[in-house]
Amino acid sequence: MSGFDTFVVVDWSARASPSPRKPSKDAIWIGVARGGAVTCHYHRTRTAAMAALEALFDAELAAGRRVVAGFDFPFAYPAGFARAVTGTDDPLALWPVLAEMVEDDAENANNRFEVARHLNGLFGGIGPFWGCPETVSDAVLPAKGTLRHGHGLPEHRGVEKQPGLGRAQPCWKLYTSGSVGSQALLGLPRLQALRERYGDQLAVAPFEASGKPLVLVELFPSLIADLIAKLAEPEEINDRAQVRILAGALAQLAPPVLQAMLEKGDPVEGWILGVGDEQALRDAALGRTVPPPLRNDCFALPAGVHWTPVQEALALLRDSLICVVATQSLPLDQALGCIAADDVMAKRANPPLPNTAVDGYGFAGVRGTGVHEMPLVAARAAAGDAPGVVPAGHAIRVLTGAALPQGVDTVILQEDVVVEAGAIRFSGPVKAGANTRRAGEDVAAGDQVLAKGRRITAPDLALLAATGSAKVSVHMPLKVGILSTGNELVEAGQTAKDGQIYDANRPMLQGLIRQFGHTPVDLGRAPDDRAALRGFLDTGAAQVDAIITSGGASAGDEDHMSALLSEAGAMTLWRIAIKPGRPLALGMWQGVPVFGLPGNPVAALVCTLVFARPALAQLAGAQWPESQGFDVPAGFSKNKKPGRREYLRARIRAGQVEVFASEGSGRISGLSWAEGLVELPEEATVIAPGDLVRYIPYGSFGIASG
Ligand code: AMP
Ligand code: MG
Repeated sequence: MSGFDTFVVVDWSARASPSPRKPSKDAIWIGVARGGAVTCHYHRTRTAAMAALEALFDAELAAGRRVVAGFDFPFAYPAGFARAVTGTDDPLALWPVLAEMVEDDAENANNRFEVARHLNGLFGGIGPFWGCPETVSDAVLPAKGTLRHGHGLPEHRGVEKQPGLGRAQPCWKLYTSGSVGSQALLGLPRLQALRERYGDQLAVAPFEASGKPLVLVELFPSLIADLIAKLAEPEEINDRAQVRILAGALAQLAPPVLQAMLEKGDPVEGWILGVGDEQALRDAALGRTVPPPLRNDCFALPAGVHWTPVQEALALLRDSLICVVATQSLPLDQALGCIAADDVMAKRANPPLPNTAVDGYGFAGVRGTGVHEMPLVAARAAAGDAPGVVPAGHAIRVLTGAALPQGVDTVILQEDVVVEAGAIRFSGPVKAGANTRRAGEDVAAGDQVLAKGRRITAPDLALLAATGSAKVSVHMPLKVGILSTGNELVEAGQTAKDGQIYDANRPMLQGLIRQFGHTPVDLGRAPDDRAALRGFLDTGAAQVDAIITSGGASAGDEDHMSALLSEAGAMTLWRIAIKPGRPLALGMWQGVPVFGLPGNPVAALVCTLVFARPALAQLAGAQWPESQGFDVPAGFSKNKKPGRREYLRARIRAGQVEVFASEGSGRISGLSWAEGLVELPEEATVIAPGDLVRYIPYGSFGIASG
């Protein structure tokens, strides 16, 4: 089922009389988002609001559009209530019963207190409903909540106990601030009427499968109250801001993300859309498109292959990883190094008008050989001047960058001209169009100037500005957590006991991530202890978009990273035909991709450059980077096993590639000595001095060399 087209948010009201004529708070507000625009509507009565909603739904459904409509009152009561009233736990069985009891006329006059009193009568003790004017209260419907006892129902639904729901009022409260109870009593019968009107076209989330043209869902604007306050227009009525911002946010959510939100919840007590997904909702309210989550099996390698070739492993990453970061619109001065989230087209041609490339004199048309004389007009055209008009047969003084006046299409250099008594003289020939720049000769309006997925360079900023873009839609930076594992590790600078070594990978990986253009987040050092490591991953997954770990990735006793990821059911041990490189543990931890690199610093660096770099680029929304290599004569000889790809630490001296003396994978000095890597293909076996080998400078991997 495709996504929704129209997003409706209703701020409901339990008023007992019509709201003021002048739009005000505590009334019914409806926000409607469709096709990038949001409109807000004010209604004085529930009857008027429902008529408007039905007209809207009718029109949308007739046009073949899907609608999701959110209402800010509970769709269900705490467990036990529906069963006591209807004999079943199904909240939707309660709706027609309430519809039968509730009277609510066109002027908002209603019998909600009598209905609540009747419902209270079905339970022992006093309650659960409470709250009404003193004159209406009695022993069955108390004015105060504290007067209730023994009714046997919970005060809150499960969803209301979630973090962030601190401001949710119980649905038993009928009167004064946040009288959610009255809103539900007067709202659910109206929704029941919609169910009857739209029948099989309508579903109520999360109780019914939501693949219908019209889906109703419960909302709670206070979930993001602080953000709504921040985004409200000056003087905007809060209710209006709520429906406007929430409708816009729903429209901004990626369809699979909204779909997952609609499916979440309890079959008895229901759910409030966005609870537990507040960040996605906030991002969407801020106009950031929130991408759908990665699939848990995104690292699955083909079964039965013992050593996967590098190329195949890369193809898999390329096919299965998708962008995981939201987008935002940034002014050009903040966009350098960001990844373009969309193609950008030129709003204006460059140059916008034909202009002169030199200082000189402009006139119309070609001039043959021989001497030419032309009268000068009194005006001159300088850069920035609005183009004037030059009569036929006349010339005008023009300065570099000036838009050509009407009647001018050719310019002669001032050095080639004699000016005398208000006229110019020069020798031909002069070609038509000489020394001018055509409008759009660089870029035509509508031409693509930036491709989605490109990391924006300083020259790109010039091109965007010149073609009329002041802002550009970019991805939020990818946050990459870096974690080292191993009991032997201590922090550089601390005292190292016998058997301990300094953590070298973490600073290196942080530096690599920064140079790739992402945001490194230090997740620290974890011991070789499964429970502790789990804690580090939990903490990390909550704050980053991807995690890179080093150490403990193989399948040994102390290889807890791979053990944990396997336990989470979403790990593949990548045995890649590559040297250096032990197995990689690639998996998902609470929805966050984890790249478990080998602990050896050399293998960690090579695997980061070869696998993690393109994978992270793809997660960040960037195009897949191919590392540019150069064929250079080898200044070394080597025998190599066929069937696996090898990377050697290398640099170029005197036109030849030299490689580091030792291939030992713990030799950190060689990483620092090198300025790039030599890539030897799978089939290579013997390399003799002078053979061409592929040298990939560190710069081609997006990192600096000393
Ligand atoms: P592992 O992959 O955990 O078996 O580690 C392989 C080798 O790399 C061992 O010699 C570790 O001591 C070493 N190693 C692991 N992590 C680091 C690190 N962060 N810094 C330096 N060496 C490390
Ligand atoms: Mg280890």
